Amino acid sequence: MTKLLSGADLAAGIRADVKRQVVELKEHHIAPTLGIILATGDESAIWYVNSIKKAASSAGIAVQIHDLGSRASADELVAGVSRLADNSAVHGIIIQTPLPKGISIGDLSLRLPASKDIDGAGPLSAGRVTLGEPAFAPSTAEAVMELLHEYQVPLDGTHSLVVGRSSVVGKPVAQLLLQANATVTIAHSHTADVPSLARQADIVVVAIGKPGLIDSAYIKPGAIIIDVGTNPDAHGRLLGDVDAASVDGIAGALTPVPGGVGPVTTAILLRHVVEAAKRT
Ligand code: NAP
Repeated sequence: MTKLLSGADLAAGIRADVKRQVVELKEHHIAPTLGIILATGDESAIWYVNSIKKAASSAGIAVQIHDLGSRASADELVAGVSRLADNSAVHGIIIQTPLPKGISIGDLSLRLPASKDIDGAGPLSAGRVTLGEPAFAPSTAEAVMELLHEYQVPLDGTHSLVVGRSSVVGKPVAQLLLQANATVTIAHSHTADVPSLARQADIVVVAIGKPGLIDSAYIKPGAIIIDVGTNPDAHGRLLGDVDAASVDGIAGALTPVPGGVGPVTTAILLRHVVEAAKRT
């Protein structure tokens, strides 16, 4: 049987810790506050922002959603981000994607001070993560590492394959695995024969956005599989990038979807807001 690496208890523990720290900060007259820049009508982005707001509120963190509208210009977005960057009452900032056509998150996140860049979106944060310097890594990448740590998965000397090379998941996860002394391979849509690469890996982290693509053909017996994929199906259910039924009994362990990386990511995002507030 493949062991399921649930993120539920880990996430609950982090949230409880965050809640305690929020109370302490408020005793020192600091009210941890997250500012979110939104400029899209995309339903899943709006759903995601509202879900963060709900989770933050239940931990006592205030959330300001600055909805600039899907027609916001580059100047309006820059002004919106700069206002939050200059506001000492706002401790963490998220620039929600997608952004209006022609506006790049890379350019806009140049306006984010690293001290408030709680989802590691900006080039300074990404650079510091790559250098192994203290920084906010993207929450999802950190969630993957926390899950591996929680379940005491040895990383040192392992061969770890990251499937996917996005800036929010694949690349930072690869950097963090490297810092944990894994030998890291990154696969993407141009990689030849991903299954045979994956069959050499002790740990496979999958973030591709292709429901059920990773099946038994990709798995070395006993390998640890972290499924980052969250793909809603026609019935609104969330599917992972891994075909859990196909890898069952072959993989040593697998994170479930839902209930694996997702809840830990949200909890870490809240933890980052509190850490940012503590530094003020
Ligand atoms: P993304 O920006 O679309 O990147 C997908 C990556 O997968 C790209 O690097 C792409 O390669 C690669 N890829 C696509 N098809 C492939 C294939 N057949 N074989 C190998 N590589 C392939 O996606 P993302 O933002 O990283 O998100 C990936 C998944 O994670 C999505 O399901 C998303 O919803 C989920 N996600 C979950 C969380 C969470 O907290 N649980 C957070 C963020 C994202 P190229 O670079 O060559 O195009």
